[in-house]
Amino acid sequence: MGQRRRFNILSIIENYKKDSFRLIDILLDIQEELGCIPEEFNQMIADELSLSRVELEETISFYHFFSQKPLGKYTVYLNNSVTAEMMLRDEVRKTFEEQSGISLGNVSADGMIGLFETSCIGMSDQEPAAIINETIFTNLTPFRVKEILNDMRDGKPVTEMYKQNYGDGNNSSDFVKAVVENNIRRKGPVLWDPYEPGEGLTKVISMEPGEVIEEIKNSNLRGRGGAGFPTGLKWEFCTKAKEKEERYIFCNADEGEPGTFKDRVILTEMPEMVFEGMALAGYAVGAKTGILYIRYEYKYLEKHLENALEKLRKAKLLGKNIAGRQGFDFDIRIQYGAGAYVCGEESALIESAEGKRGEPRDRPPFPVEKGYMGKPTIINNVETLAKVVKIIKKGSAWFTGFGTKESSGTKLLSISGDCRYPGVYEIEWGHSIYDILQMSGATDTQAVQVGGPSGVLISPDQLPRKLGYEDLGTGGSLIIFHESRDLIREVVMNFMDFFIEESCGSCSTCRNTPVLLKQKVQKILDGHGVVQDIDDLLEWSKNLKFSRCGLGHTAANPIVTSIRNFRHLYEKLVQRDREFDTGFNLAESVRESCEAANRPTI
Ligand code: SF4
Repeated sequence: MGQRRRFNILSIIENYKKDSFRLIDILLDIQEELGCIPEEFNQMIADELSLSRVELEETISFYHFFSQKPLGKYTVYLNNSVTAEMMLRDEVRKTFEEQSGISLGNVSADGMIGLFETSCIGMSDQEPAAIINETIFTNLTPFRVKEILNDMRDGKPVTEMYKQNYGDGNNSSDFVKAVVENNIRRKGPVLWDPYEPGEGLTKVISMEPGEVIEEIKNSNLRGRGGAGFPTGLKWEFCTKAKEKEERYIFCNADEGEPGTFKDRVILTEMPEMVFEGMALAGYAVGAKTGILYIRYEYKYLEKHLENALEKLRKAKLLGKNIAGRQGFDFDIRIQYGAGAYVCGEESALIESAEGKRGEPRDRPPFPVEKGYMGKPTIINNVETLAKVVKIIKKGSAWFTGFGTKESSGTKLLSISGDCRYPGVYEIEWGHSIYDILQMSGATDTQAVQVGGPSGVLISPDQLPRKLGYEDLGTGGSLIIFHESRDLIREVVMNFMDFFIEESCGSCSTCRNTPVLLKQKVQKILDGHGVVQDIDDLLEWSKNLKFSRCGLGHTAANPIVTSIRNFRHLYEKLVQRDREFDTGFNLAESVRESCEAANRPTI
């Protein structure tokens, strides 16, 4: 048995030519083959890859989905996003725990079922949702959980456990076969403008690379992942890098911001457009290799994406001499993550793609100068690259005809929470939040979270605010909260848990401050807060600006923006007649020990 496992591991390493930069793929394959990464082989794996054992173990320990212990024949990852919690995920959790006899974080004694918790899995429009052995289950109910557990006891493969039809669009294709729904509620004029693969590439070969960059700059296209950096400018910076021979194009499909799922829909319905956008970027900056870095949660799309790549290769739209242009060579491989929100940050993504912990790098140098393997690297979001194709095909003037002066084009939104029609909506920039609530059938709204936990929680008096870089620039996640929600307990605390869980731990500010802030909010919720605590929360949050990356910079936003826009909710909870309360109850703290020692309680 041990010999066979050893042999399997060695052949997986051999498949990757002992390349330590492919460590994430190697570890994913080992785990898929053996159910975990057995610790007794750590030294052997490290030796084969010419790594130290510490280097190997620090990578394994970084990612949520790696485990050195068996995870169960059926491994259930139940996500704990705020929308899952709103859709009664706790009932589902309880049923999983009661019926399997184990609590979250454990594997049953017979090794049959492992039950784990994970952050948002990109299914906020169909919660509660879980991943079981790389297969997605959505709209779970306690009844469905009992059926699933019965199927597990009968030894059924997960793909035979579905009771509902496959989802819409390509979700029901032979390459996907998932119960996931696209929930496309509004087809906009850019992404859903009719498209045939190759339309951008056949046009671009008549242009000089500099002209392509100029066209993208003229379109005013800005990164659709959230940061909003001008795409054409990023490409231009890359062309100015000293290194000319080796450059890379990354598509960032790591959408891990809770409430975001639009890239999942783009990759399901129009993967060719995204890959073509990568090839266009390659043409513009002189790169020959593209890498789609996609979150592990979307592994169920693997065959579908590989099939799209194969079709493009057969049509000579990837590979050598693309679209008949001599010397235009470009191809793409897919790199899976292994569960770490911070890898959406571009330098962390590069570290991860190089097989390391996804810890953000100090910058400068920026990736356009020194990125993957130390070479100039462009990293663009899925939606950004899809839009590049349409801009090249129809021209920058066509694109700037949509949206507003500073925010050209359209934006794909992921809308979830308390509304009738959760799903994706392609809208022109410039719509108000009020418009969005109308479109999605939301009523009696108390608040809207714009841009995920790192964004802003806005109040009803701000509904006229507009989506766009002039006001609310966003990666596209909008979570709607009904007036019946307890914003601090249900929303703010959930978001703080998320940041605490996802901090990579490099900076002491990001590692510690969110924990202290959350404890202070808990103190307020427990009835021990005073007015000074609210001010302390705002003051202490300032520490986070000394963090290295955006995760740390924004980790207090759930608290800061909720105090800014909903201060009355905090003030209702604090004691107005006291200036000081530590929140520490001496009598309660020593009660248990007094009872054990048979001493009188205080
Ligand atoms: Fe890591 Fe947080 Fe520092 Fe970013 S800010 S590098 S996530 S510790």
